[in-house]
Amino acid sequence: MIVVMKAHATPDQIGAVVTRVEQAGFQAHRIVGVERTVVACVGEERGKDELQQLEQLPGVDSVMPVLRPFKLASRELHPEGTRVRAGGVEIGGPRVVVMAGPCAVESGPQVLAAARAVKAAGAHMLRGGAFKPRTSPYSFQGLEDEGLLLLERAGREAGLPVVTEVMDTHDIERVAAHCDLLQVGARNAQNFALLRQLGKIDKPVLLKRGMSTRLEEFVMAAEYVLSAGNHQVVLCERGIRTFETATRNTLDLTAVPVLKEWTHLPVVIDPSHGTGVWSLVTPMALAAVAAGADGLLIEVHPQPEQALSDGPQQLRPSRFADLMRALAPVAEAVGRRL
Ligand code: PEP
Ligand code: MN
Repeated sequence: MIVVMKAHATPDQIGAVVTRVEQAGFQAHRIVGVERTVVACVGEERGKDELQQLEQLPGVDSVMPVLRPFKLASRELHPEGTRVRAGGVEIGGPRVVVMAGPCAVESGPQVLAAARAVKAAGAHMLRGGAFKPRTSPYSFQGLEDEGLLLLERAGREAGLPVVTEVMDTHDIERVAAHCDLLQVGARNAQNFALLRQLGKIDKPVLLKRGMSTRLEEFVMAAEYVLSAGNHQVVLCERGIRTFETATRNTLDLTAVPVLKEWTHLPVVIDPSHGTGVWSLVTPMALAAVAAGADGLLIEVHPQPEQALSDGPQQLRPSRFADLMRALAPVAEAVGRRL
């Protein structure tokens, strides 16, 4: 259930609602919107008649059921959409946020060259994996702690906030100390222990869709983070498994309008993992922005032919600069900017 407060409800009136919601055995989450505050009541449906009576309280506009299985992610809670701030960059606002950089941090010079190149082309954030979730245990696993430091340093030198993956609950603290946005990879999309822990920190989370996760399950995964108290979640579609073999994954761009309709969370597209082929990255990035994506996650490597992971899908810097030039008019055509 959600309790929608009147536009001019006072803090005391909102406080009284929160108290009554908690007395009824529900968790109360205050969602402060531009026009009004909504109190989301999360818990078992049993006590919901008691909540209906809150309509009588001063300052309350209405009490409504949330019909979908996800409660805190629901668009009804925040009709104008959530804006997530990561290191000074706003995701979900008018700007299309481009996060770019190598698949993995391989060395100081490699990540710094990538950072400088993507910054020069107009990217807003630097990406790079220090802990790499590889399909094979014999493949390069990432530089781990050293990688985190190199990524942080490159971001600072280039003037870009950084996003990197966290794979394990034990690593959350140290990864969070060196980045602005914590990524949960496709292989951990339903690692509920990890998601719950990320719900307890004060840093935004970029949650990727699992390769076999339905959109409803994807949003329920986000709900784990939200319900544990962290409301700064960005969703990322990165391609799903289908029968198609021409591409590494099938990039599901319908995820953008569906997730926008269902939820208030920003939606980002990763056309690099979504296609697995560098020549397909630009067309799908343009299509993603045309479909309403709030951002892009793109792999860029100074020398893709020497990359230790995902070489075939990484853009060389000149091609990334071409992508950024092609993107500007598309963003403008849908009322956004870079
Ligand atoms: C990544 O972005 O570094 C990554 C490993 O992607 P995914 O989890 O989508 O495979
Ligand atoms: Mn990769």
